[in-house]
Amino acid sequence: MPAIRCPHCDTSIDVPISRAGGEVSCPSCSKAVTVPKLGELRRLEASTPTASTPSQAGVETAASPLAKRAGFVALVALAAACLGLGGFCLVRYWAIAIPGTTESHMEMVESQYSQAPASQLVREWQELESFGEDVAFPYPYETVAAEKADWLRKGWMGIAGALVAALLAGAIASFSGRSTSHG
Ligand SMILES: [Zn+2]
Repeated sequence: MPAIRCPHCDTSIDVPISRAGGEVSCPSCSKAVTVPKLGELRRLEASTPTASTPSQAGVETAASPLAKRAGFVALVALAAACLGLGGFCLVRYWAIAIPGTTESHMEMVESQYSQAPASQLVREWQELESFGEDVAFPYPYETVAAEKADWLRKGWMGIAGALVAALLAGAIASFSGRSTSHG
């Protein structure tokens, strides 16, 4: 509701829009006060501040630290989860023993061929010439080595994820510590 000032006692009077262009009696000094035309009254109403604005601002500032705390807790939980998963993958990496290397594999092949009859050597040589040196399937120790490398990669990804989450949580903690005097 727009408000006008009483020209006699300077009291603020709330005036209904329906009284535009007419007169009201001042509730303080009971004298007749001329009400402005409708356009002027609308302009007065628009400039009158609404009462709800300050309380809304108060709610926003009160909710902000709570959101920060929730984000901090979520990031700490994420860091712990990443650390756990990464640690699990690294434990799997250390637990896997590769059953042989390229060197031990070659030694085994050499010892087999030293005892093999000449006819087998000739046959395998002919196979090598027709099919090439590439083996169709990787040797078992190569499969295990690839699996072990996969666990190591997953482990480092988990550790890196935990570090990023911990850094973000620390950034939130230091930011909220600066903005509020008590933490
Ligand atoms: Zn008055």
